[in-house]
Amino acid sequence: MGENSKNKRRCSFCGRPESEVGFLITGLNGYICDSCSQQAYEIVQEAMKGSASGANSLDLKELPKPVEIKEFLDQYVIGQDAAKRYLSVAVYNHYKRLLQKSDSNEVEIEKSNIIMVGSTGTGKTLLARTIAKLLKVPFTIVDATVLTEAGYVGEDIESLLTRLLQVADYNVAEAERGIVFIDEIDKIARKGDNPSITRDVSGEGVQQGLLKLLEGSIVNVPPQGGRKHPDQKMIPVNTKNILFICGGAFDGIERKIAQRLNTNVVGYGAAKETVKIDRSNMMQYIAPQDLKSFGLIPEIIGRLPILTYLNPLDRNALRNILTEPKNSIIKQYIKLFEMDGVKLVFQPEVYDFVVDKAIEYKLGARGLRSIVETIMMDVMFDIPSMKIKEYELTLDYARQQMEKTNLSRLQNA
Ligand code: ADP
Repeated sequence: MGENSKNKRRCSFCGRPESEVGFLITGLNGYICDSCSQQAYEIVQEAMKGSASGANSLDLKELPKPVEIKEFLDQYVIGQDAAKRYLSVAVYNHYKRLLQKSDSNEVEIEKSNIIMVGSTGTGKTLLARTIAKLLKVPFTIVDATVLTEAGYVGEDIESLLTRLLQVADYNVAEAERGIVFIDEIDKIARKGDNPSITRDVSGEGVQQGLLKLLEGSIVNVPPQGGRKHPDQKMIPVNTKNILFICGGAFDGIERKIAQRLNTNVVGYGAAKETVKIDRSNMMQYIAPQDLKSFGLIPEIIGRLPILTYLNPLDRNALRNILTEPKNSIIKQYIKLFEMDGVKLVFQPEVYDFVVDKAIEYKLGARGLRSIVETIMMDVMFDIPSMKIKEYELTLDYARQQMEKTNLSRLQNA
C-alpha cells in the first residue's frame, strides 16, 4: 500500500502530486505543499497587518502600564530612573492619544515629544532600543547628524521619516502612529552665539525644518530616503500623531547649567540658598533655558515639552552594567562558551579590574566590551579546540592580557 499511496499523495490546495513539489506536509485529512504553505504564510501576514492598522487594534487594558514598561527597561538598562519613568509615561500616553476618538468634542490629548539629555554612552540609545522591543507601534532610530554633516549636501529633513515608513512596510496610516527616536539632536544646535557663515547650514535652517515635523504637519517623504529627487515619488505623511523622542549629549551643557544656577542664587538671595547643589551631577538640574543657551531655538524647545536627563555612570553603575542586564557583556561570553560545552567562570576581581580600566582610560560603558574582548581574545581562540569542561578566568590572566595590549588603540575605538 505504501508505495501506491505515496504516488497518489498530492497537495490538497494546488492539487500537484508529490513528485512535482518540494515536499508535502501531512495534515489530518490532506496535504499541503511547500509553496502553498509559503503562500498561506504570506496571506496570514497580510491579514494580520490589515487588522493591526487603525488605532482600534490597541486595547488600553492590554497595554503595559508605565510601571510595567519601566520594569521591562530595568532588565536591560542600569539606573537612569528619571529617564525611564518619563519614557514609560510618554509611551503610555502616546497609546492613549492614539485611542482617543477624533470626532468627539472632548478634551483633545496633544502629544508631548521628549528630549533626553545625557553624556555619550550613558544609555540613551540603549533605552530607545529597549523600549522598541515592547512597542505596539512602528519605531525607528534616526540620526540628526546626517542632516548637517555635509551642510547643504546633507539630507533633507523629511528623510528622517523614511525609515519609519520602511519599518511600517510603507503602510502610511501605521507610520503616522509611530515613534521616532532622533539621536544626536544637539548636533543641529546653533554653534554658540557667534554668528558665522555656516550658521544657517548646521543650525537654524535645519531646526526650522525639524520644527515642522515636531509640531505636526503633512510632509512629503522620499520613500527611498536621501535628498528629494525629481523622479522620486513622494509619500505624504501627517506627523500630527508621530511621537518624537530626541536624545543628545549636549557636551558642555553642565557649564551652562552651573552658570544659570549661580546667577539664580545671586538673584534670589539667601532664601533660596538652602538647596544644596550636587556638583558631581549637574545634569539633574537641566532646564529648558539651558537648551536655549546651548543653541536650540525656543520653538524647538517648546515642541519638546518633556525634558529628562541621564546620569553619568559611576563605578558602581559600570560594574552593574558589566554583569546585571539580561544580556550583559559577561552573560554573553558565558553563553558563547556554553555553546562549546565549557563553563566559563570569572574571578569576581576581574570585574573590578575591567571597570578600573574603563575609568582609567575614560572609555565609559562602551569601553567595557572592548576591554573584555581584549582579555578574552586568546582564550576564545584556544578553548574551542581544548577538551575542557570548565575555564576560570583569573585576575592575573586578565592583567597579563591587558598589559600585552596597546590601550591607546581602545581609546580611539
Ligand atoms: P548613548 O546613546 O547615550 O551615547 P548608548 O545607549 O549607545 O549611549 O550606550 C553605549 C553602550 O553602553 C550600550 O550599548 C550599553 O552596552 C552600554 N550602556 C550604557 N549605559 C548603560 C546603562 N545605563 N545600562 C546598561 N548598559 C549601558
